[in-house]
Parts: sequence; structure tokens; C-alpha cells
Amino acid sequence: MSDHDVIIIGAGFAGMYQLHRLRRLGFDARVIEAGDDVGGTWYWNRYPGARCDIESVEYSYSFDPELEQEWDWSERYAAQPELLSYAQHVAQRYDLRKDIAFNTRVETLTWDGDGRQWTVTSDDGTSRTAQYVIAATGCLSVPSRPQFEGLEDFAGEVYWTSRWPHEGVDLAGKRVAVIGTGSSGLQTITAIAPVVAELTVFQRTPSFAVPAHNGPNDERLADARTRYREIREYSRMSRTGFQCHSGTRSLVETEIDEVQREFGKRWADGGLCFSSAFKDILKDMKANEVAAEYVRGRIREKVKDPQLAEKLSPRTYPIASKRMCVDTGYFEVYNQDNVSLVDINEQPIHRITRRGIVAGETRHEFDVIIFATGFDAMTGALNAMDIRSGDGRSLREKWAHGPRTYLGLMSAGFPNLFMITGPQSPSVLSNMMTSIEYHVDWITRALEYLREHGLNRMEPAPDAEDNWVNTTNDVAALTVMPQAASWYMGANIPGKQRVFMPFAGGVGTYKQIGDGVAVAHYHGFELS
Ligand code: FAD
Repeated sequence: MSDHDVIIIGAGFAGMYQLHRLRRLGFDARVIEAGDDVGGTWYWNRYPGARCDIESVEYSYSFDPELEQEWDWSERYAAQPELLSYAQHVAQRYDLRKDIAFNTRVETLTWDGDGRQWTVTSDDGTSRTAQYVIAATGCLSVPSRPQFEGLEDFAGEVYWTSRWPHEGVDLAGKRVAVIGTGSSGLQTITAIAPVVAELTVFQRTPSFAVPAHNGPNDERLADARTRYREIREYSRMSRTGFQCHSGTRSLVETEIDEVQREFGKRWADGGLCFSSAFKDILKDMKANEVAAEYVRGRIREKVKDPQLAEKLSPRTYPIASKRMCVDTGYFEVYNQDNVSLVDINEQPIHRITRRGIVAGETRHEFDVIIFATGFDAMTGALNAMDIRSGDGRSLREKWAHGPRTYLGLMSAGFPNLFMITGPQSPSVLSNMMTSIEYHVDWITRALEYLREHGLNRMEPAPDAEDNWVNTTNDVAALTVMPQAASWYMGANIPGKQRVFMPFAGGVGTYKQIGDGVAVAHYHGFELS
């Protein structure tokens, strides 16, 4: 007899909803969470300017219409404190915390084939058993921490955006370095530029960014409240998981004036829908380059110094082959006298000293260094645990040449272990809330099915997994996305196998496949 029916690892949006669903169906479920409260991403990433890149009304749970109606989203794109309050509200409303063990990190999972259960051990020395384990450990929850020689010598303050102090940091009047210009870097830079004395940004690869046009949300919220169901239905069947009209026209076959007009309209609307303007932007390098050049033109409009504008303009990878940033005045920051940019391709960082950073020939002095260097994405949190199948093989070994899953939900050889937004599912290419809810609902239905049929073991058939891995690779190969050295490819982590990890076929298509598998009595899975 196991201690629990289900152990869920992680109390971010995925783990919270999973707990709620299972408890309602009478499963005995327990969550184990490393942090000391709920919220996951929005618990850890408290850096200045942190906010979502999907509109608040869509970056939210859809499972309870009452929750939708009662929660006020104050801004078009909610900031981290509001997102964390929302997570805390949900925990309170559904009384989730009583079944969550906080401050506890899962270290090992061991499958006992005879007992048909997992043994889960944690860093507090406890060991628990469960029939099923659901990893809700997050796609972007393990920070990437590049090694910089001399960091330990630095006499000033050092912060990581992904582990920002809960009590906040006073940066007013300080000389600050930010290393990294991905999404977290952009948001931090924009937020702190007005308060710091000097800001020096160390950039390796510039980001494409579209404007958020953030602001009060009254009208959008009022509108959403009258038609939440319609919005959610649309999002679930869409390519991106949020309301965005994916263009059906080919850019290369459209008159250039019309192309510019369409881009202009989407730019004025703001947000990530920009890159869905034409059907070939992600498929054809010619189309892609037209879209990229449109954004570069906008950067040139915003940044007064043409040389600086050029440095801030991405040229080494296709647009939208990395998640685009959604900015609120980022490029304009570089018109301020107290802000400067160091291109580390020209002036590599040699070392960190007691007083600052030596890059190229220049010694920069700082009071504070902020690292915005990203995450070991998608596989990082799973591989951080020692997960062993019955024959002793580890998931880490199995995935040494890239993740292998069926539908991004399970991996052959590791029965009864589910992943929420696992590799080879749409996950980071989508509105994560839509993808999280879909996976939670799918897994919940599968566990109900097993219970109803007197079964207690589920695992992908190896050939179904092989087919899905091939499908994921084939779909990615139809796009320009694998051309970028991105975190989708694992390229930001030294030694990580470069494979395109998410499923690029779109949220709606993925849902149709996942629903079809479930309806066909979990076709491709072995149940017993
Ligand atoms: P997480 O929120 O990452 O939660 C996982 C939890 O698991 C964490 O609390 C972690 O502590 C815990 N955990 C991990 N391993 C263990 C272990 N071994 N033992 C115990 N606990 C463990 N997505 C969007 O769609 N739109 C956005 O605008 C957006 N913005 C983002 C901004 C930032 C800065 C980041 C980092 C991510 C963003 N994302 C965004 C992606 C975001 O991660 C998801 O939207 C969503 O919050 C993920 O929820 P989750 O529950 O799956 O994972």
C-alpha cells in the first residue's frame, strides 16, 4: 500500500491545478515544493519589471468561471506581484496548502516494478511512496549559471533575476551591470534604468522585441468577462494558446505595402501575435527576413545613435526562432546618458574582479552585478532529479542525446511518471496556462480511466515514443526554428545535446492528437 495515490512535484500553476483536480476526484494527492510558498515562476522571479508576455486575462486559469469573474487583472500584462497574489489567492480559495509540503526538494525517484509504485526521497530525509508521480517541475525553473572567473572576488552585491531576494533590492544611485539580454534581462534593464546611477548592459545576442502597449486593463477585462468561454475555446484550438489570428496569407506572395500595413497593425496592437502575421514567417527565410527587418527598422526609430541601434538589432538568427520579448520602452532606455552597452562579442568578459568586470581592454567598476542568464530549459528540472526505472536505468542517461517522450507526457521505461508541459509538447512555444491546463486535464482523465478499469500501470510503448520523437523533429524541421542557437535547442547550456525540444505543430493540433489518443483507449500506451 502506497503512502499516496499521487505525488505531484512542484507548486507552480501546474502543480496547484493538478492537486485541485485530483483531490476533487477523491485521489489522495500530495505536492512537494522546494520553495516556501506556491506560485513557481512567479514565486522565484521577483526581479524589477517581471511580468507576463501573454495578456493577463488569458494568462490565467480557465477551469472555474467563478474564479475568472472574481479576479481583477489591473494591467493588460500583469506584473509579478499580481501574478503571485493570484497564485496565493487560488491556493487559499481551493485550500491547496494543506496538501503541500513546502521547503522540500525531491532528489530521487525510484520505480518498484513489483510494488507498482514510486519511492520519492527529498532533501529533508523523508521518503514517500506513491502509485503515480506527476512532475510539475516547470520548463524554466533551473537557472543557468555560467561560470565567470573571479566572481567570488567581487566586493559588491550579486543577484540572479531568477532568484531575486524576497525583500527587494535598493538599486537607487548605484552603478549596476546587467549580464544577459533575453526576456528577464530586457525587463530588468527597462525597470531599473530610471533609478540607477549608471547601467552597463553586457550583451552577447540582442533580442527581437515587440511592444506590449501595457496599461490599465478595465476595458479588456470587462470584455473578457462577457465572453471568457469563447476566448478559452478559441485559445485551446489556436496555434499559440491565446487569441491571435494566425495569418493564412504567404508573405512572399503579398504586396510589400500590404505586408507593411499588416505588420503596422499588429505592431500597434502589441504583443506576441506580431510573428503570426503571415503563414510563412516561421517557414521561409525570405519571409522571415522581411519580418526581421521590419523590427530592426523599428529599433532604428527608437534608438538615436545609429551604431548603438545596429548593435541592438538581431542579425544572427531568424525572428521568432526564440520566444520574442514583449517590451515596455526597452530600446528607448539606451537614449539615456546613464546607460551603456558592451557587446561581448567585441569585448569578451575576461574576468570579474573585486571592483567590477574586465571586458576587452576596459575595466568597469560596479556596485552591483545582476545576472539574467536564463535557464536550463525544459529538461533541467527533470534531469536535476535522479529518476530510476525498475532496472536501475536513469532518465538522465536515457535523455543524454536529447529528451525522448510520447506526447511530452511520459517516457518509455518510466511507468506511472507523468510530466506537465514536458519536452516534445507545445509548452514554451505557447501560452503556458493553456498548455498546463490541457496536460493536467489529460493526465487526470488518464488516472480516472485506469481506476475505472481496475488498472494501475501506464507507460508509452517504445514504438509510439519513437514515432513521436520523429514527428517532433520532422515538424521542427519544417520551420526555421532549429536554425537558432536558442534555449529551445539547449544551446545555452554547455555540453547539452542540441535538439529542438518543444513540439512546434501548434496547441490546437497537439490537442487533437492528444484527445485522439485518449479516445482510442490511450493508443500507444501500454496499460495493465
Ligand atoms: P513553475 O512555475 O516553474 O513551477 C515549478 C515548481 O516546481 C517551482 O516552484 C519549483 O520550485 C518546483 N520544483 C522544481 N523541481 C523541484 C524538485 N526537485 N523538488 C521540489 N520542487 C521542485 N509563460 C507564459 O506563457 N507567459 C509568460 O509571460 C511567461 N513569463 C515568464 C517569465 C519568466 C521570468 C519565466 C521564468 C517564465 C515565464 N513563463 C511564461 C513560463 C512559466 O514558467 C510558465 O508560464 C508557468 O508559470 C509554469 O508553471 P509550472 O507550474 O509548470 O512551473
